[in-house]
Amino acid sequence: MKKTVVLYPGVGVGHLVPMVELAKVFLKHGLAVTVALVEPPDGSATFSAAVARTKASNPSVTFHVLPPPPPAPPAAPADEAAPNHHVIKIFQFLAAMNAPLRDFLRSLPSVHALVLDMFCVEAQDVAEELSLPVYYFYASAASDLAVFLNLPSKLAGMDKKVKELGDSMMSFPGVPPFKASDLPSEVSNDGVALGSILRMFERMPASDGILINSFESLEARAVRALKDGLCVPSHATPPVYCIGLLVSGGGDKEHGCIRWLDAQPDKSVVFLSFGSMGTFSKKQLGEIAIGLENSGERFLWVVRNPPNSDHKFGDPIPEMEDLDTLLPDGFLERTKDRGLVVKSWAPQVDVLRHRATGAFVTHCGWNSTLEGITAGLPLLCWPMYAEQRVNKVHIVEEFKLGVEMRGYNEEVVKAEEVETKVRWVMESEGGKALRERVEAAKSAAAEALKEGGSSHIAFVQFLEDLDASKVQTVQG
Ligand code: UDP
Repeated sequence: MKKTVVLYPGVGVGHLVPMVELAKVFLKHGLAVTVALVEPPDGSATFSAAVARTKASNPSVTFHVLPPPPPAPPAAPADEAAPNHHVIKIFQFLAAMNAPLRDFLRSLPSVHALVLDMFCVEAQDVAEELSLPVYYFYASAASDLAVFLNLPSKLAGMDKKVKELGDSMMSFPGVPPFKASDLPSEVSNDGVALGSILRMFERMPASDGILINSFESLEARAVRALKDGLCVPSHATPPVYCIGLLVSGGGDKEHGCIRWLDAQPDKSVVFLSFGSMGTFSKKQLGEIAIGLENSGERFLWVVRNPPNSDHKFGDPIPEMEDLDTLLPDGFLERTKDRGLVVKSWAPQVDVLRHRATGAFVTHCGWNSTLEGITAGLPLLCWPMYAEQRVNKVHIVEEFKLGVEMRGYNEEVVKAEEVETKVRWVMESEGGKALRERVEAAKSAAAEALKEGGSSHIAFVQFLEDLDASKVQTVQG
């Protein structure tokens, strides 16, 4: 019987997309694989749309939608005051999904390993109960993993709160120093979700191994620090396997923006897209518009409604406002011969790989970063949420594959900055040198995945280690 692995991506488009790519790697190596999906309780429209798209474009992958968790007992009076933070809610929801996950694993004829997204950390209990080998697939950089695995011991050894450090520099093994304020806001503000985040990284070392969507030579120092056990002083670091870059194949060639790109010259268009959740104030949208207009460059820009302060994680995204009311007066008309604005969502991978695309203004989400690198595009880094400010440091200072958009940490990035950086990346010698470095990284990434390349070898090693691990399997 084929070895069977269950992948558990949890919630979030940026976690689902690479996990499905991982599923295809397992299939290629002759294993059977099922991706266990959850349906977030508050009906996130973006996530549901991503699930539908991903299923449709990956017919070779088996998906199983887990039923909802049993209803939670009524909140005790003390719980009513419990923090109402979206990150805590995600952890709580995923912890409650342990029961349906366990039932599903038991229902399968056999399972040989469970591979978790980092947010599914509580599912380690299920693996333990069923004596299953448990691995993580870390959907961000090895450099992030080095930082976050080190964070619990780093904070425990500090006599100050992180928010008291402000812009002071912090050092972590294997990565350049960065400002404390660049850590995710839940950490840098000592927010209510900090405990849950620390718990995630405290538990992860007790797994059987961590697969990372990266390749060794991209992040050699961080990978070394992880492998040498420098990040987790209190526990042995499990094996880490850099098996990337795994990037979705795209496939939406019919979208209007692709046809628009077909009519543009080679490498002439700057693409601006800010992840599955990035939104800007109307003021910031105006600054971007003016900057793009004044740059004189061609552009393709994904625009969403400004954030609504009542909007909670997973709420359906409200109907898009009219672009003419969101953007400065006459902007669309004046730029119509060299710019296209797309509402809410574009087929990003197809856009990035299009011959007409020449640079990428990105929020530095890890998937977007990898999609940009594997398309050979210079990155203009505009980090927004989660671990993206830390990613920006790695991309700019360590990998040297991007430059920073100044003002990302202020009220707005000004129009002049957008204009200057966009023109710089498209026209200057510096921009050309940056493009050449990304082209070299693109080739290195492709080499790593080939038979005999570092990522291929790492995956084969992982399979051998899996073979040698607790041989017990769950039998339904
Ligand atoms: N994405 C897309 N079109 C968009 C915005 C995002 O296809 O208009 C995809 C993008 O290609 C990537 C994922 O959504 O695969 C976003 O993941 P990432 O890790 O970059 O950011 P996150 O959404 O997790 O912040």
